[in-house]
Parts: sequence; C-alpha cells; structure tokens
Amino acid sequence: MHLKSILNRVERHKCFVYKQVRFVDGLVEPEFEVEIEPRANSRAICLGCGEKRPGYDRLSPRRFQFVPLWNIAVFFVYAMWRVDCPTCGVTVERVPWGEGKEHLTTSYRWFLARWAKRLSWKETADAFSTTWDNVFRSVKHAVAWGLAHRDLSGIEAIGVDEIQWRSGHTYLTLVYQIDGAKRLLWVAQDRTEQSLRGFFTSLTAEVRAGIRFVCSDMWRQYLNVIAEQIPAALHVLDRFHIMRNMNMALDEVRRAEVAQLRRDGYEPILTKARWCLLKRPENLTEHEGVRLKEILQYNLKTSRASGLICSARTSSGSGSTRAPMGQEVPRCRVHPLLAQPHRPDEEDGPEPAASSASDPQLVAGSRHHLVGRCRGIQRQSKTDHQKSVRLQDAAGHRNRPLSCARPPTGARVRPQIPLRRF
Ligand SMILES: [Zn+2]
Repeated sequence: MHLKSILNRVERHKCFVYKQVRFVDGLVEPEFEVEIEPRANSRAICLGCGEKRPGYDRLSPRRFQFVPLWNIAVFFVYAMWRVDCPTCGVTVERVPWGEGKEHLTTSYRWFLARWAKRLSWKETADAFSTTWDNVFRSVKHAVAWGLAHRDLSGIEAIGVDEIQWRSGHTYLTLVYQIDGAKRLLWVAQDRTEQSLRGFFTSLTAEVRAGIRFVCSDMWRQYLNVIAEQIPAALHVLDRFHIMRNMNMALDEVRRAEVAQLRRDGYEPILTKARWCLLKRPENLTEHEGVRLKEILQYNLKTSRASGLICSARTSSGSGSTRAPMGQEVPRCRVHPLLAQPHRPDEEDGPEPAASSASDPQLVAGSRHHLVGRCRGIQRQSKTDHQKSVRLQDAAGHRNRPLSCARPPTGARVRPQIPLRRF
C-alpha cells in the first residue's frame, strides 16, 4: 500500500487530493513530503468568515508537519490560496488539516498531546524527534479545546488545594471536582484570594449555587473566599492539615513542659520523646511504645494532649469509629495505650463543655468555627480534674490509680508530679 493510499484512508479531505509523495533529505534526517492540491472546481474557504470565495492568487508552498511514519517526519506541502472576500478583504484560505499560522497539522498536535499525558513533554519531544515547544503548543491546543467543550453542570463537591512548583515559596492554586467524576477544574498562580476568586467568577451563578460541599486546608485566604462565595456549602476541613496543626500544638506543649520540668529540677522525661508522642500507636517500635506508656503515666499536659489527639485521630476516619458526616463524636480522653474498657462501678461524670472543641468534624463555612477547632488543644490542656483512672501497667503493677505517684525505680529519680484526673 502506498503512503498516498494510507493518507486517503486516515486523513481524507473532501476538497483536496494528495499528489506526489517524495522521500527527501531533510536538515537532519530523511523526510516524506506529500504534495497537496485543491480538487478541480473547488473553491477556497475564507479564513475570516468561513465562506467559499474566489481565489485571488497563490502563496509560495508551505509545509505542515503530519504524524511521523516509522519515526520518519511527514510533511504536507501546499501552496495556499489568497481569497478575495467581499466581507474580509483579501485574506488567506482556511485548510482543514491546520489552523492559522501553525505549522503542525491538527492530527499531529492531538497525537503529541495524547503522548504528553503519558510521558513528560521533553520525553515526548525526544521520542518523536520534535521540539519541546511543539509539544507545549500541542498540549495548549488540547487544553483550550477541552476548556471550550467542558460541561460544568452538576458539580456538587470541590476540593481546593495548593501545590508548590519551582523552588522556594511558589505555589499554584488547584480546584478539583471530587464528586463521582474527579477532574481538575482550575489552576491559578499563587495562593491568594484572587487566585481562588477567579475560579468562582468563572462559574455561572447556577453552577456556583449547585456546589454543596467544599474541602480545603486551613489556608486563611481560601477560607475567606469560600465563606464569601459559597456560604451555604458544607466546608470539610482536610484531615491531614487538622492533624498536622494538632501535632504542632502537641509538640509546642511538650517543649514548654520540657522547659518547665528543667526549671523545676525534675528528670527530663519528655526530652527526645517527640516521635513517641507524634507517631500513631500502631507505628511505634517496641522501645517507643514502652517509653510512651511511661510518659503517659505522669499527670502532664503533654499526656493529656496526646490522648486528645489520639482520640481525634481515631474519630476522624481511621478505624471503625468513624462518625457520620456533620455529627459530634464522643471522645475518650485517656490515651488508648492506657485506657481500659469501661467499668460499670466507676463514676461516669459529665464531660466538660470544652471537650468537644478539638474534635475534627465537618463544619459550616464560617472562619470563626475554624479558628475554634484548631485552638482546642490549648484550651483542653488548661483543664484539670481530679479522677482516679485505672491503668494497664506495662511494668507488672496492676491497676494502679493515676492519683498515686509512681515510685522511683532503681537509681533513677522520677519527678514527683501530682497525678490528677485528665
Ligand atoms: Zn471572509
């Protein structure tokens, strides 16, 4: 089968015919050149108005790059008509295989754009012996086509996040659709209010009103714009960022307490204990687990904060105690490493009102809510209540009440910290 026959099968244009096919020496590699001529009695189409117009004159032959064959470059060679249009004046004709001044055929641009989804743009350019710029323009063309033809109706849930690019603090703002269909909806430079507001202003009022859920991190600029643009939507805070803030708060409490213990002359039990407290219990090594249990037996602010975070971590989605969307979750205020199952003979007093403040949960798009959530740990750490809680003892002492100070073992001197209910 001749190349001309293949082209007539895969890239046939009604008003044009493929003429001679030449195998020529290019600047670097050999190339195919396929000569194209307009079909007899056909008239050129005006680039401006799209109407058939009489020819004015013909330009010198121009080359359009087509999809390579056996990695040999293929070029269409065509001398374009200038048409005499009563509406647009004398202008160049429109050809079906290319657009404007673009020297790549539309088929080749789609070919490169499809490969650019699987390979990097540089790899795509190397694989098909073309330039990075050609790949870039092909992707740009595909994106422009996609934006012009996309359907935004029916969007119910979106996710907002930033991504770092280049070096330093250079970010892009990304908005995704996350209900059923998962697709990227918006990319903007920086992570300012203006970056995100541009997304909402690009939507019609109908689409904007249809958004019922939005998920984001706790970046202040995003929170402001979301509260301003879609106040009725349910705002879901990203669990990763909530836990990160809680872990930062825990470490802050720990460092302050390390300094306090040092000033008061106690053994520095919390020194170098950062990762024992921040890791999930299932990820602790044996040594870290023993160390954590040891720490948690003291009535320290750090112990209480660690218990709160552990219960928040459990209630926010890992494990079987996931709470239904938008509901308050009951909280165990004792670290799971120490807590025993509930005993009916134990006093079961009411929880303090502030205890629900640090649970991560679905909240409405109000920034006041959000601030309250991330400050819960500090408020909790100020609450002291006397209570005797039974412990699982790793060192062989059974059910020792927290209100008793642990006796010193060996030559080490334990801090004599009064243990209280937490
Ligand atoms: Zn015209």
